Amino acid sequence: MLEFHCAPLVGAQTLTPPLTTGNACVIVAPTMNRPAIVWFRLDLRLADNPALAAAIKHGGPVIPVFIWSPAEEGTWSPGAASRWWLHQSLAALDADLRRHGSGLVIRRGPALATLRALVQETGANAVFWNRRYEPALRAQCQHVKQALLADGVRAENFNSALLLEPWEIKNKSGEPYRVFTPFYRACLPQLTTAKAPLSPGKLATPPKLPASLRLAELELAPKINWAGGLRAAWNPGEAGAHVRLREFAAEHYVERRDRPDLAGTSRLSPHLHFGEIAPWRVWAEAGNEEYRRQLIWREFAHHLLYHFPHTTDEPLRPEFKRMPWRDDPAGLHAWQRGLTGFPIVDAGMRELWATGWMHNRVRMIVGSFLVKDLLLPWQEGARWFWDTLVDADLANNTLGWQWVAGCGADAAPYFRIFNPTSQQAKFDVTGDYVRHWAPDSPPPILEHAKAREAALAAFYSLKK
Ligand code: FAD
Repeated sequence: MLEFHCAPLVGAQTLTPPLTTGNACVIVAPTMNRPAIVWFRLDLRLADNPALAAAIKHGGPVIPVFIWSPAEEGTWSPGAASRWWLHQSLAALDADLRRHGSGLVIRRGPALATLRALVQETGANAVFWNRRYEPALRAQCQHVKQALLADGVRAENFNSALLLEPWEIKNKSGEPYRVFTPFYRACLPQLTTAKAPLSPGKLATPPKLPASLRLAELELAPKINWAGGLRAAWNPGEAGAHVRLREFAAEHYVERRDRPDLAGTSRLSPHLHFGEIAPWRVWAEAGNEEYRRQLIWREFAHHLLYHFPHTTDEPLRPEFKRMPWRDDPAGLHAWQRGLTGFPIVDAGMRELWATGWMHNRVRMIVGSFLVKDLLLPWQEGARWFWDTLVDADLANNTLGWQWVAGCGADAAPYFRIFNPTSQQAKFDVTGDYVRHWAPDSPPPILEHAKAREAALAAFYSLKK
């Protein structure tokens, strides 16, 4: 028995030729399925990609699509460093798809209108994608899914980004966690079985993919001459992520992870953010306990973002809305450019500007300096990181800044004010880090002891 469909099709080897051209009826052989669209988002990989695996299983040709739609990401659309990475990662994904006889179809958003147009153009009857957890993109996901289902299109989404879904972990009262250690303990029993690898396998491709924009037309590359250091430091894309994982010496992680003068951490954060490698692959292959704990911090960050979406812009602890922050454009500029006169702070901020990344210990030190020494709002720091980090991630960045400011879940207490000089002595043990990034610091822009007193007074005023 033959099935009849009334939609224009991109000719596919699995489909018999249309009886007429244009918007005419076509005949599909009974055992063949119609095309499926894979809508790539922050899952820029072929291996271990549940949406891609579902599209292959659907049985017809697979149409890989990326939709650039920053307006739908609201006030947290990708910053400059993220855009640079995205450009490289999309190029790598396209090259990988071409090696499988396919290619990436690039379009501009909005997502729903673009997917509907592609369904029309290709005769696809299914769209598969992987989930994102940013508040604006959760709303987008629901809207797209409902509309496609109403159109009669199979629309399904999957988890590609997390070990566990944020709603799967609840405390005994059924509430989300606000403290890390119990959250960690609750996750562990659920992570005992390793996920079977999902290989892209054979990718059935239509003879002609739908028209695509050229990647350059998205204008993701920075307009100023700034990306040289990023290019030297990173190899974006799925292959680069796997090389990074193989080269990471997990066995030395515990003694090296807090040392910015040693390359002791995995530097997988941008690869994980862009979904170039599955977190469960990293969990399985790089596992020592302390390292896995950091991966659970990433889960915790997504748990908090999911349950407390307002925290991207507002403190989780409401009393912090009354914080008497200062307004100091010159201080902010000195911090951003690594000109505070505190060598470890300047080294971190210069490393960030040059490479799009900063060591976690130094992120805590520069964060504390901005929020407690300069008494500037944590949101200013979050925004600067958002623009300059290649691993800028709304969940992790929000958690990091609220932790530093003392206003988030399980945050550093307000009276814990890092002394940048003693932090430098303790963690840049050889001095190599500061020598490399800030051999020439200007005179200090403030006196730490006085700034500390002012910060304590400001934080104490919240208790009244
Ligand atoms: P590793 O030590 O090798 O850890 C492995 C992975 O675990 C990381 O790649 C990351 O995905 C996850 N991880 C590690 N530490 C944390 C943490 N504290 N919170 C959440 N996940 C963690 N991380 C980001 O990915 N994006 C951000 O935008 C971001 N902003 C931050 C802002 C501040 C103020 C602070 C203090 C931390 C921030 N972090 C952020 C967390 C952390 O600094 C980075 O994840 C880490 O430095 C990345 O380097 P790595 O891959 O070598 O980490």
